[in-house]
Amino acid sequence: MHQQNDDIEQLTDAIVQYSVYRVRLDPPLDHARTAAELKASAGDTITPAGIGGLEALRLFRDVLAPATISVDHTKFLSFVPAAPTEAAILFDLVVGASSIYAGSWMEGAGAVFAENEALRWLSDLAGLPARAGGVFVSGGTNGNLSALIAARYRWRQMSAGRNDRVRGLVVASAGAHSSIVSATRAMDSDLLTIPADARGRLSGDALCAGLADLADQDRDRIVAIVATSGTTNAGVIDDLDGVGRVANDMGVWYHVDGAYGAGAMCSPSQRGKFAGIERCDSFIVDPHKWLFAPYDCCALVYRDPGIARAAHTQHAEYLDVLHTEPNDEVDWNPSDYAHHLTRRARGLPFWFSLATYGTDRYGESIDITMQLTAAVVNLIRQASHVELLMEPDLSVVLFRRLGWSPADYYAWSERELLAGHAFVVPTSWRGETVLRFCFVNPLTTAAEVADILESLS
Ligand SMILES: *Cc1c(COP(=O)(O)O)cnc(C)c1O
Repeated sequence: MHQQNDDIEQLTDAIVQYSVYRVRLDPPLDHARTAAELKASAGDTITPAGIGGLEALRLFRDVLAPATISVDHTKFLSFVPAAPTEAAILFDLVVGASSIYAGSWMEGAGAVFAENEALRWLSDLAGLPARAGGVFVSGGTNGNLSALIAARYRWRQMSAGRNDRVRGLVVASAGAHSSIVSATRAMDSDLLTIPADARGRLSGDALCAGLADLADQDRDRIVAIVATSGTTNAGVIDDLDGVGRVANDMGVWYHVDGAYGAGAMCSPSQRGKFAGIERCDSFIVDPHKWLFAPYDCCALVYRDPGIARAAHTQHAEYLDVLHTEPNDEVDWNPSDYAHHLTRRARGLPFWFSLATYGTDRYGESIDITMQLTAAVVNLIRQASHVELLMEPDLSVVLFRRLGWSPADYYAWSERELLAGHAFVVPTSWRGETVLRFCFVNPLTTAAEVADILESLS
């Protein structure tokens, strides 16, 4: 559709200029406004005649964007921040401009090929065999669900009909992400939570002990065992080798949720922490977390993609042309590997950035984050008003402010956000309200974090 109100050249310039400006900007932190405030400032934006692209862009720049927190701000240290590279962000514009359907090889071969190159890099880092492969999905939540659906498919296949009407059982630890709970709910399956150790780490021994209590018929219901590398709240990496050994010995699907942490595999100095991930049947990692890609980008990789294909492929009259292989060669249709059909080539910005900078830069950027984490741990150790809760495995730092009530934490956090200083929200650890930094941005400096710690005194 060609909009009528502006000269398209002028609009193009304005959009490209704004995008480049935003990519280069030292972004303001910003914060939410109420819907009433936004309505008052923005007015009616959807009108019969249209307000014109330049005006809509102005509204976005002046009203809407300032009501969104910049996740790439160097002092955004809540949840899991994002730090997309310039190359990745700029290429996102290209993906948007290119009108690619990336669900099938027939339509998106070139894009799918490049996405698969990026998946291959991740798969090789994890030590999976050459036949491994998968797809980029919107986020870890879809990645985990899709992997567990494939796991359930195989479990039912193996039982030759016996389990067709039996509820599946997914085994995970207390440190597993909420999306695992959400997946089991969506799948109408049960979740067995195995207690982790004091740091929140699941070990192979704890898993064995937890499974020993299971009745035989429950043991037969196990669809998958899930390990996390690392946990979102504490950044703790489960005993991937020990847990994987147990799953492999039982012949149970082993899924590793590395949404936040597994990006660190690309640093030779960190790869050892992931020993045992090569035992997995599937894993996920979110390049939109610690691999410098823009939202929404989760890599989902299967050891044996054929199982995922059997579990996920949609069949319909109008789609069957995609599955007619003249020479027995199976086309790589990304739609077949997750719970989705239409998809944008969301892995391309990540691929472009990897191609642009080279993989060494990725490892170096992880190392920079890990050096920052170590520096912050030292700062906390040296200060008398804060106390470290545990030595980090990765780049999540949990600590307490001595003498503070939960209300003190919340008031401080809100004050810092509204002042545009920092975005650090409280979390809880073993029932206590505490603070948590999550570092993924290589541009965050120890001096900036020192300022935040100072503001706590
Ligand atoms: C963030 C996260 C998820 C969920 O990923 P989304 O991309 O937010 O859907 C799942 N697992 C872990 C360990 C995470 O850190």
